[in-house]
Amino acid sequence: MSKVPFSLAQLEQTEDFVRRHIGPSESEMAEMLEFVGAQSLDDLMKQTVPAGIRLPEALSIGESVTEAQALAELKTMAAKNQINRSFIGMGYSDTITPNVILRNVLENPGWYTAYTPYQPEIAQGRLQALLNFQQATIDLTGMELASASLLDEATAAAEAMGLAKRVSKNKKSNAFFVAEDVHPQTLDVVQTRAEMFGFEVIVGKDIDAATHDVFGALLQYPGTTGEVKDLTSVIAALHDNKAIVAVAADIMSLVLLKSPGDMGADVVLGSAQRFGVPMGYGGPHAAFFATRDAYKRSLPGRIIGVSKDTRGRPALRMALQTREQHIRREKANSNICTAQVLLANMASFYAVYHGPEGLKTIATRINRFADIAATALTRHGYALKHSTWFDTITVLVDDKAAMIEAAQKAGMNLRADLDNAVGISFDETTTRADVMALIDLLCGADHGFSIDMLDAEVTTQGSHSIPADLLRNDSILSHPVFNSYHSETEMLRYIKSLEDKDLALNHSMISLGSCTMKLNATAEMIPVTWPEFGKLHPFAPVEQAQGYKEMMDELSDWLINITGYDALSMQPNSGAQGEYAGLIAIKQYHESRGEGHRDVCLIPSSAHGTNPASAQMVSLKVVVVNCDKNGNVDLADLRKKAEEVGDRLSCAMITYPSTHGVYEETIKEMCDIVHEFGGQVYMDGANMNAQVGVTSPGLIGGDVSHLNLHKTFCIPHGGGGPGMGPIGVKKHLEPFLPNHQVIDTGNTTKGNGAVSAAPWGSASILPISYMYIKMMGSAGLKKATEVAMLNANYVANKLDGHFEVLYRGRNNRVAHECIIDLRPLKESSGVTEMDVAKRLNDYGFHAPTMSFPVAGTLMIEPTESEAKAELDRFIEAMICIREEMAKVESGEWDATDNPLHNAPHTLDDICDSNWDRSYDRQTAAYPVAAVARNKFWPSVNRIDDVYGDRNLICSCPSIESYIEE
Ligand SMILES: *Cc1c(COP(=O)(O)O)cnc(C)c1O
Repeated sequence: MSKVPFSLAQLEQTEDFVRRHIGPSESEMAEMLEFVGAQSLDDLMKQTVPAGIRLPEALSIGESVTEAQALAELKTMAAKNQINRSFIGMGYSDTITPNVILRNVLENPGWYTAYTPYQPEIAQGRLQALLNFQQATIDLTGMELASASLLDEATAAAEAMGLAKRVSKNKKSNAFFVAEDVHPQTLDVVQTRAEMFGFEVIVGKDIDAATHDVFGALLQYPGTTGEVKDLTSVIAALHDNKAIVAVAADIMSLVLLKSPGDMGADVVLGSAQRFGVPMGYGGPHAAFFATRDAYKRSLPGRIIGVSKDTRGRPALRMALQTREQHIRREKANSNICTAQVLLANMASFYAVYHGPEGLKTIATRINRFADIAATALTRHGYALKHSTWFDTITVLVDDKAAMIEAAQKAGMNLRADLDNAVGISFDETTTRADVMALIDLLCGADHGFSIDMLDAEVTTQGSHSIPADLLRNDSILSHPVFNSYHSETEMLRYIKSLEDKDLALNHSMISLGSCTMKLNATAEMIPVTWPEFGKLHPFAPVEQAQGYKEMMDELSDWLINITGYDALSMQPNSGAQGEYAGLIAIKQYHESRGEGHRDVCLIPSSAHGTNPASAQMVSLKVVVVNCDKNGNVDLADLRKKAEEVGDRLSCAMITYPSTHGVYEETIKEMCDIVHEFGGQVYMDGANMNAQVGVTSPGLIGGDVSHLNLHKTFCIPHGGGGPGMGPIGVKKHLEPFLPNHQVIDTGNTTKGNGAVSAAPWGSASILPISYMYIKMMGSAGLKKATEVAMLNANYVANKLDGHFEVLYRGRNNRVAHECIIDLRPLKESSGVTEMDVAKRLNDYGFHAPTMSFPVAGTLMIEPTESEAKAELDRFIEAMICIREEMAKVESGEWDATDNPLHNAPHTLDDICDSNWDRSYDRQTAAYPVAAVARNKFWPSVNRIDDVYGDRNLICSCPSIESYIEE
């Protein structure tokens, strides 16, 4: 008989996931607690979090669950989604994600855990993929300039309206025209946005557009019911009236069709979803957006541009960043921060893999299936709404309801929202059997058609579905990048070569303050690519999406519990979109009480740029509230400003803990002051990682908050997106949550507009947050918050003495992040925060958040997921860099010929036989021993931002320009 030291319960290790998610071990935590001077995690909380806002009771999420169990339960739920063959169309098409892209991009942490490429020297891979996306957009749309993704087609259309207003020469008009054959969800989102801006929307036939006095117009190509027509004369007539014309286009159709640019469009936008990105019940997908070079400064979102590095080589970076909300605040072109980088990359790889010929084959096959179906249906006696189409035919039927129902019984979804007609849309996945099943359905079993017979007929008679003068005759995707990687081996290596240029979380910690780059556990990611979640059309009947509903209801309940709110909307696709949706709710609430005159939003000077940019989108006037020398909101100034605006006060936007990483003691008073003057409190939830299980915005006094599920709740950053920004609200705001034109999202006031194209935003990444919360349980979530704070205080105290730690709260504690001040050192040594950021690359690290919220500082947020060893490595790097700065300070090192000024160092530097620096190569590239064991080589040297903005190039440079070097 042998001894049994553990009980079965102990051996089962049900909290195993919590232990894996949290970086430091129990003994390391004890060591770290001792170092920071706390008895326990609870003691640290008592020292740090104001007593008045600590949650009185535990969360009610339940116990933590193992990875296997959580996956099994979610699988059971997912199986309740019924996957019908979708012919719905309306901007969403089924697609085949090439497996080489599925596994090596979508399922690869090298791609999905990267951050937005603000440090371009260690992000050339995804910058290249995004440049390819821009090139593909430029080619297909026939425009001069494109951006690197927006959130979805509908919001891109709303952004086009905003651009039109900014650049139109028709300054008097306040009206925007929308063609009646624009997708209904696009119209919905545009209408919401127009209402907030105070624009009038005129909906009508495109041929009548120019009879209205408008500053801009939106057309759809092909139309939502499938028609393909020349828009040239409509656009010209609108131009005669000085209107700006935007065209929402289907990306696959553009492979065959004359481009909207060729027809004179000023803006072309749309969804890149059908280039290999699953429908995912609505998203995430990348929208594309292209315009004229003349409007480049008005373009919303991020643009990738070509510049050069210090060795004179072409190098990529984000261009014209001064247009964005980080700098321009309420004067920014848009509030978009997180976009759809991962999905834009997938779409660009899809174009690279198939190339122009492959895409033509795919597009032509789709069009052929539509021709074949149309031939059978018309011969059988059906009338079609249009005589032209690319992939969509609209069939007039007597009994629509019966037809839709019969189709559903046969496992097919048709478009159901048209009067006396059904829409049928074909896609890349359509098979011969699908088309025959459809013909069987519409024509009865004994129709006598066969695919080959119908195809022969189309072949001999020729296709008339695309008018001859609307066929493309210019070449597309002629750049070598779209013509070189068509075998899987070549493609695999191309993807890998780009991945290797990027530093992501699978290499080292990314301590970006405010961005919460924590573990994105593999078990959380696995369900994302289950077909049960991926293959659902967002407008499929809700009865077919019971698995999604169950998952979203449960997740919603958990988030309500965590935030202390009463209701939640999953619709917003990013934090900034959540801000916009939340401010709309506030505005409508005031209006419902006859207080529509409330139009001022108070925002502390330390706020994130999206706050003022979002306030501007709902026509609120921004009044800035000062911060005191400790970085806290100046309570006296808040009261003074609130008094001054009086009954014009709509709301205040407050981040908690503050963007300075401090639990302000006066937060409740701040909320009280705002309420006292009749305002609402918008609490920016980006810092929820310091609240979960410990306090909550609802408890503190917020009325509405967005949650960045891509920060606190483990959705990876994807290199700059996707994200999800659901909003939680108190009861009184619930009636004002977004609804949706096509799918009723529930218990909100009818007529509330939509803020996203899809009713539940990017639904297919919600399983990530679901899995996280499920596996952590109530206690695990709270512990994550506590350890996030332990890690931050550990880093702050270790760096203290070497650097000045700005802003601390009670008992000298920071919250979940800390700011170190480099300004005094810049003064004494000439070494800038940029030098430090780039030098960190030489040590194998991504820089912390630079110059936000305070210029000249770094904000470090380690998160709970980083182990002590990694924190120590980072701390060692920072201290070594401080010593290097001292050498410059003392004159031991030259002011410019030093490793800080020349950072980051590349292999080209080290291998250069003309090494002529005053320091040696080892100091340059292997400054500490730990680096040599796992060296990350930046692929380019420091990039010249000014040169890139002066010589803006946003398309792929010719190969010659690379050979020249
Ligand atoms: C990240 C962040 C936002 C914006 O969120 P996105 O998802 O990028 O739009 C807003 N406020 C704060 C404080 C943030 O850190």
